[in-house]
Amino acid sequence: MTSSRKFLVGGNWKMNGSRQLVETLVKALNEGSWSNNVECVIAPPSPYLHQVRSTLRSEVGVSAQNIWTEAKGAYTGEISHEMLTDLSIKWVILGHSERRAIFKESDELVGKKVANAVKAGLNVIACCGETEAERDAGNTTEVVFRQIKAIASQLSAADWSKVVIAYEPVWAIGTGKVATPQQAQDAHKEIRGWLAANVSKEVADSTRILYGGSVSAKSSPDLQKEQDIDGFLVGGASLKDQEFLQILNSRL
Ligand code: PEP
Repeated sequence: MTSSRKFLVGGNWKMNGSRQLVETLVKALNEGSWSNNVECVIAPPSPYLHQVRSTLRSEVGVSAQNIWTEAKGAYTGEISHEMLTDLSIKWVILGHSERRAIFKESDELVGKKVANAVKAGLNVIACCGETEAERDAGNTTEVVFRQIKAIASQLSAADWSKVVIAYEPVWAIGTGKVATPQQAQDAHKEIRGWLAANVSKEVADSTRILYGGSVSAKSSPDLQKEQDIDGFLVGGASLKDQEFLQILNSRL
């Protein structure tokens, strides 16, 4: 049975880019083609959001990489959902492992950020994933369930239509060490099972779960075959225009 969940490929540029690189990557996406069954969303650093949104064709989504919980005020260095809406940016990535590890974002804060973003009308790519030590200790599901629970506890069932989960094992991010299709499928199936048991069967069936962690043009064709993999969140390879187009085209 083919899934009704539209395949989504996100490109997380992290803290990389320049006006020149924006031009190159936007040009490639404007001129490139991929299946209508694949949705694409790219996440440039916030200084380039406006340039990207105003030059990229409208069917490609644009995402911020993080926002704060409030709409405005004395939060030096932060950006808000209100600013994204003002720039016609409809997506935000929240809870990326780099935010959790480097900027010490707790499960609770990530849950609050996701809820506030959804309530402000944004679509959210909410990230979760275990470290290598947690996987080696056999704690993968415990960690991932804890992270998802902190998000789910702040959402209504209806809110889930605005949320995409990205399962990103920390040991695979930026390391070149991609999870095997089976490892990713197993984790995605567990996450979907958790949603069915703790939110609803409808939410479990309709929520897209992306895999992230060193996805490349080489690994994407096999990963996309797995039943519970509904797309990718791509870091490093999203900065290489031709490789990112190849990843978009790994799904027909
Ligand atoms: C990411 O930043 O979400 C990511 C998965 O990075 P990479 O593809 O470089 O591992």
